[in-house]
Amino acid sequence: MAVKIVHLYPEEMNLYGDKGNVICLKKRLEARNYKVDVINVGMGERIPDFDILFIGGGQDKEMSIVRRDVRRKAEELSYYIHSGKTVLAICGGYQLLGEYYKTASAQVIELSGALPFFTEGAKQRMIGNVVFESPFGKIVGFENHSGKTYIANEFCPLGCVISGFGNNGEDGTEGVLYKNTFGTYAHGPVLPKNPIFADEIIKRALQVNELPNIDDKFENLCHNSLVSRFT
Ligand code: GLN
Repeated sequence: MAVKIVHLYPEEMNLYGDKGNVICLKKRLEARNYKVDVINVGMGERIPDFDILFIGGGQDKEMSIVRRDVRRKAEELSYYIHSGKTVLAICGGYQLLGEYYKTASAQVIELSGALPFFTEGAKQRMIGNVVFESPFGKIVGFENHSGKTYIANEFCPLGCVISGFGNNGEDGTEGVLYKNTFGTYAHGPVLPKNPIFADEIIKRALQVNELPNIDDKFENLCHNSLVSRFT
């Protein structure tokens, strides 16, 4: 039985190489002899059952294009997230899971509302390298967003900012971790240079505690050099 990765809005929401996260997950699964099917889901299409759902980042313009469709998908997204399916959402894709996104020009974009958080655009964009401490070790990436995301107190952030802005540049949080849904502002793509995080996504999807080791020499070299450079 193949592992199913659904890539939501691959045309509209794909900034800074975020599609590389899907490629990374596929490669790491295939290296462990899993067969992998990647299913692209666009506007007007239903979200089929999956093992991992991925949504990449997008500019305000693209978010405005997908906003009606993501509201039509709100029930499906909510059902999958709250039933514990594995989801990875990056930046604009992460914002889509919240209630709304108010752009820097005060345009309110109603979103899926799958999770109780909101985002408000700031005049000053938050751009640069980001390193944050997470339950899966340090995670390093690149951020470029005007949106400041505020998650409800009862929700856990994915991590605590060590360097960079994170969710909003104010409360020291970065991303969100709810059941098996991971939201983060880290572009890059984030997974290839954070192999522990990448394998955590896979373990959640496969519902296993361990995975056979694979050679992460170069991934760890890259990870460690970036962490030491930016912290
Ligand atoms: N348009 C959103 C913002 O500026 C998301 C940007 C992104 O996905 N990089 O906050």
